[in-house]
Amino acid sequence: MKDLLGKKALVVGIGDDQGFGFAIAKGLAERGATILIGTWAPIVSIFTKSWKMGKFDESRKLSDGSLMECETVYPIDAVFDHVEDIPEDILEHKRYKDLSGYTVSEVAKKVQEDHGKIDILVHSLANGSEVTKPLLETSRKGYMQAVSASSYSFVSLIQHFGPIMNKGGSVVCLSYIASERAIPKYGGGMSSAKAALESDTRTLSYEAGRKYGIRINCISAGPLRSRAAKAIGMIDNMIEYSLKNAPIQEELKAEEVANAACFLLSDFASGVTGVTLYVDKGLHAMGVGLDSPCLS
Ligand code: NAD
Repeated sequence: MKDLLGKKALVVGIGDDQGFGFAIAKGLAERGATILIGTWAPIVSIFTKSWKMGKFDESRKLSDGSLMECETVYPIDAVFDHVEDIPEDILEHKRYKDLSGYTVSEVAKKVQEDHGKIDILVHSLANGSEVTKPLLETSRKGYMQAVSASSYSFVSLIQHFGPIMNKGGSVVCLSYIASERAIPKYGGGMSSAKAALESDTRTLSYEAGRKYGIRINCISAGPLRSRAAKAIGMIDNMIEYSLKNAPIQEELKAEEVANAACFLLSDFASGVTGVTLYVDKGLHAMGVGLDSPCLS
């Protein structure tokens, strides 16, 4: 179905072909959208090299046999809004010093210059430098960094891209159940960051709905073995827990989250805004762990 033909989509947070961002971009391309990618500045060179060398070709294959194309890859660091915000050590850092224009406001300006207005925006990024520490041991700096990279980045994207989105446009971000239930080992303030992200989804749906006529939704996804998730260190346990305890006993595929995202990002969801939609094989609905020894 090519229901997104003629729509321009920017997916921010693609660094390889393993995560939700890539799967969502592919789903959007499958439905006819033009794809622009935002890749975290320090890894943009390795990402574009891998893309050109064909490392992602197998994953880029669409159902008609063609490869998903990307019009432009923009280096972006979503913790910086304006060039004045970039500290000296980042400007001089070897992975940044040859780049420019990677703050959120500059990327929005470049996207508008290159492609005019866009219709779809995806925030598929998160970062918590102390994610492996319990909240009780998280420093103020680590907590603020997690919220800056994982939640305020969403506010900033909408602040800067809202004005260059067509009326009727749609935005999606990705959350995790740790926003509302205690999930051991999802630390460093990341649970707080996801709670903020879901709350901001509601507030921004009102503010950006009234101001720009765009919709803002969130997907609370089940566990996926992405690069970011592997760095947290307990993804295999979370997948196993879901397999044992979720209503649907199958491993979640990135494609399933992408399908739900494509719905929210399409006109089929024109009446839906401000929601957090669970795409987790139903795990959120459970009140007990069925594999608990207490139940045997
Ligand atoms: P991923 O590694 O594919 O994506 C995370 C991306 O964020 C990476 O490409 C990384 O380079 C980018 N990033 C980090 N800091 C950034 C910054 N300052 N500016 C711009 N980009 C930055 O992993 P993923 O698991 O697909 O993550 C995508 C989203 O899905 C995240 O919000 C994550 O929290 C959420 N999520 C993941 C899971 C899971 O189990 N994998 C479950 C629920 C929600």
